[in-house]
Amino acid sequence: MSTEHAITNRTLIERLSMSNSQDSNQKPLVAALASQNHAETLKDSEALELVQRRHAHLGGSILFYKEPAHIVKGEGIWLYDNKGNKYLDCYNNVASVGHCHPRVVEALSTQAAQLNTHTRYLHESVVTYCENLAATMPDGLDVVMLTCTGSEANDLAMQLARMMSGNQGAVVMENSYHGNTTLIASLSTCLSAADNRPDYVAAIEPPNTYRGPFRAGEANLGQKYADLADEAIAVLQASGQGVAAFMCDAVFDTQGSLEAPKDYFQQVYAKIRAAGGLCIADEVQAGFGRTGKMWGFENFDVVPDIVTLGKPMGAGHPIAGLVTSRAIADRFAEQAFYFNTFSGNPVSTKVGDTVLAIIQQQQLAQNCADVALHLRTELAKLQHKHPLIGDVRGLGMFIGIELVRDRDSLEPAREAALIIAEQMKAEGILIGATGRYGNVIKVRPPLVFSKDNADLLIEKLDKLLSELAS
Ligand code: PMP
Repeated sequence: MSTEHAITNRTLIERLSMSNSQDSNQKPLVAALASQNHAETLKDSEALELVQRRHAHLGGSILFYKEPAHIVKGEGIWLYDNKGNKYLDCYNNVASVGHCHPRVVEALSTQAAQLNTHTRYLHESVVTYCENLAATMPDGLDVVMLTCTGSEANDLAMQLARMMSGNQGAVVMENSYHGNTTLIASLSTCLSAADNRPDYVAAIEPPNTYRGPFRAGEANLGQKYADLADEAIAVLQASGQGVAAFMCDAVFDTQGSLEAPKDYFQQVYAKIRAAGGLCIADEVQAGFGRTGKMWGFENFDVVPDIVTLGKPMGAGHPIAGLVTSRAIADRFAEQAFYFNTFSGNPVSTKVGDTVLAIIQQQQLAQNCADVALHLRTELAKLQHKHPLIGDVRGLGMFIGIELVRDRDSLEPAREAALIIAEQMKAEGILIGATGRYGNVIKVRPPLVFSKDNADLLIEKLDKLLSELAS
């Protein structure tokens, strides 16, 4: 990675919130949350000591909140701090089936007590898991390659796409985040300014129908946004890079949780394939039931060439991977070698298989769809009542609540989002914020979120919004 591209965590967080900011004098939400001077703000001397020890020896150390959350226990949808305070978790997608699910804990500990090695010995559990995972995918996506993180999965996906296509370039979204390897950091455009990217990266405007170039109410939105890929493809072809892949996160997390027009992906996929590229669905955020369907891409009636997975896959245990076709996997195997010491080990695959079984047996995708419907109805009422809420959107249980100072100018209300995230913690609710301007409250709880949980969230949000307005 060049020095220009060597990004610190702080820079990442600032860019996640600040790129193209209309109001760059204000401290971005996430950066403000992350860069507290705890020596000045933290009253609790025990907590301050831990913060200082952490700062001394933990690289890239980022802490949310003025009073950092010191979480010591998790159970289902609840987190508990060291003082016994209880928090409703509206933020953590990784603990997909709920914190410390007894079946996951049991699977993990039983297998850990028996054996944990690499995949070079025959073992039932990795095979069973890959069979079960592949069975959830559309026909033709049969081959699983396991990694430990979403970044590794996306890196491997790009390697596959480059070999299969013979091209090098990638079409991605503006303000995207796909991971931290050198290659994938360069495809994560929230980490770099537009004039400081390698020429194998071409970024397009995401389909933001609230504040993007084409807005709700206009005709042919899917086509208008998809047509923006034409120029990106042309640029990659003109530079000689060609198109190896299109990589996109179906819930557009770092773009502020967007709902792409229904036909958007079909049209972009057609353009990418016509240019000889592969379509990579980054399902690290969207996958495993969150959108109300098992896979985010199913909301758009497309079948990707490669699906990458991570975060919720092991409910907190580091397992990730990709699923692709036999032809693509074979082409890679002809030319390259893939081994990953930890991926696919018996403990990880037992955990992954248990998480998958829980999602299926408890119908958690359907739960997301049902609870999201209820939450969206209640959020629409809040939007009607509080002018600060400019837009509510998202897929399933990945909901963005965009705060604006003015509903006509759409001026982002970033500081309000900061205050709400801070004060929601004081109210016993953990919530995040995202988007280019840091003004989108992000609701992304474990999949076991219930209607009662949603009502509690609404009650507290209503209270804080009323206080902010008074
Ligand atoms: N893709 C997306 C859409 C992500 O949100 C992330 C993590 N935030 C990644 C990939 C990278 O995953 P990991 O942190 O497990 O490497």
